[in-house]
Amino acid sequence: MKITIAKTAGFCFGVKRAVETVYQQIEENPGMPIYTWGPIIHNEQVLEDLAAKGVKMIETLDAAEQIEDGIIVVRAHGIGRELYERLDRPGIRLVDATCPFVKKIHRTVETKSADGYRIVVVGSSAHPEVQGIVGWSKTPADVVESPEIAAEYVPEPGKPVCIVAQTTFNYKKFKDVVEKISEKSYDSIAVDTICNATYERQREAALLAEESDVMLVIGGRSSSNTQKLYEICRQHCPKTYYIQTALDIGDDWFWTDASVGITAGASTPKNIIEEVYTNVRLKF
Ligand code: SF4
Repeated sequence: MKITIAKTAGFCFGVKRAVETVYQQIEENPGMPIYTWGPIIHNEQVLEDLAAKGVKMIETLDAAEQIEDGIIVVRAHGIGRELYERLDRPGIRLVDATCPFVKKIHRTVETKSADGYRIVVVGSSAHPEVQGIVGWSKTPADVVESPEIAAEYVPEPGKPVCIVAQTTFNYKKFKDVVEKISEKSYDSIAVDTICNATYERQREAALLAEESDVMLVIGGRSSSNTQKLYEICRQHCPKTYYIQTALDIGDDWFWTDASVGITAGASTPKNIIEEVYTNVRLKF
């Protein structure tokens, strides 16, 4: 059996940086209460380890307002401006681990909306990164989730449109959305804000899936970039499985001369990828 691990599998720069930020805060501030705004990463094993070290997670302003002192770490997805300002108050030290690539989208949205553009964010409206991006627009912004929705989109008359994307959005779908909106708006600009890490991971996953008999995609159930990786791999390899850890691997998925590809979402630690590799190897 041939097993290939994608070079781009696992932690991206932004997630690695955010997780390291929390561990650094724990080390540098013994005894100080530490909170993260939402899960710092979509990975249960890492979250359990942080919880064991006393890190708590908060997700509502009410919960944040109960905190009298401590550190709140903003995760890689970032948050909107209003929330940022409300969390940043006396007694609280706000540590911003927003990925610099997401931060750059915040700046674009803030500037362009101030310049009179209607902001369109291409992505999932339920995703915290998208909600954070929308939160930096100075005027109401729209979220367009798919090319089908873009086909129905009606631009505000006389207003230029600035289109940005959720960093983990599928590149081809983003291009389709831009094309559809541009057909309707005389004055639109599109800023390709899809992260290279995501694009590279998706591109490599597609190539690997194409040449594999079985493809394993590792990642948390609620990780949107892992779900997208899974969709892409399935298009090229019907025997694609979505797993969280080595425990999810089925006994009848492989055969002696099968070629197996392994990739993983941005929130998957290296040790989990290695564990999956070892377990697949042990199957034959
Ligand atoms: S996927 Fe890209 S934008 Fe998102 S956290 Fe990772 S490096 Fe940053």
